[in-house]
Amino acid sequence: MVLHAPGHPLVLQERPIPVPGPGQLLLKVSACAVCRTDLHVVDGELTEPRLPLVPGHQIVARVEGTGQRVGVPWLGSTCGHCRFCLSQRENLCDAPGFTGYTLDGGYAEYCLADERYCFPIPDGYPDLQAAPLLCAGLIGYRCLRMAGKARRLGLYGFGAAAHILIQVAHHQEREVYAFVRSQDEQAAGFARELGAVWTGWSDQLPPQKLDAAIVFAPVGELVPAALRAVDKGGTVVLGGIHMSDIPSFPYRILWEERVVRSVANLTRQDGVEFLELAPRVPVRTEVRAYPLEQANQALDDLRSGRLRGAAVLVMD
Ligand SMILES: [Zn+2]
Ligand SMILES: [Zn+2]
Repeated sequence: MVLHAPGHPLVLQERPIPVPGPGQLLLKVSACAVCRTDLHVVDGELTEPRLPLVPGHQIVARVEGTGQRVGVPWLGSTCGHCRFCLSQRENLCDAPGFTGYTLDGGYAEYCLADERYCFPIPDGYPDLQAAPLLCAGLIGYRCLRMAGKARRLGLYGFGAAAHILIQVAHHQEREVYAFVRSQDEQAAGFARELGAVWTGWSDQLPPQKLDAAIVFAPVGELVPAALRAVDKGGTVVLGGIHMSDIPSFPYRILWEERVVRSVANLTRQDGVEFLELAPRVPVRTEVRAYPLEQANQALDDLRSGRLRGAAVLVMD
């Protein structure tokens, strides 16, 4: 499925099987989960995609020739020599390649990937269930690390990332407070099923102050809302790659050493750690499968908030 111009639906196209260059693997894709970042690419909020582009960066695939199962994440390549790469911060590389954005991704039957940026997928996860681990899980895990030791943790937006993260949070003996769109009873119910100690609308305050909050929804108004919900010294982590403008807010809600920070991309170390942790939790993902040619439908369902868990494209 190919994006020719932002703001237009993806187009189903026959393409020749790509030919791997040095260091690249030819992969037969079996599943690719849909991420909100894909929506930002397709809708034109991320402005520098390769075009035409095959989106998708949560790929579960088998290496042609060996049959080995691998996962391909958002971070597709780094330069290896900028000051960020040289200081264990390759997520901030000056010259990165991003799967499904600046590199063709996994909404396809075949794709290429740099061998050094692929992960082995833990046994016990079928392809479909493994796919959302590769971004929703990974980036969610990085956000959780940035939230520090917070015992009372707020999650704003209860989609693919939050439904994975709440399981990790419980494993680490944290309490989760889930904030969902006003009147979204279905999302609130889903959060309670997964063990949230409290659920509420995103403009409400929790019954007690939180130690940290993670904002997954791409809505700038949630930043001051989350700041009001966290206690002194609390951190608000912004997990998305794009967000609507943050409205101005009084300094007093930031004062007392509250911190607002974003999370960008991932390092391979995040991937290794999270994929090692996931089966020990054990994280179980809830997915809705779509055939590849229904990618536009999957994106629409994500855009409108109709999903429970993660959307995953499956190839046969
Ligand atoms: Zn670099
Ligand atoms: Zn993603």
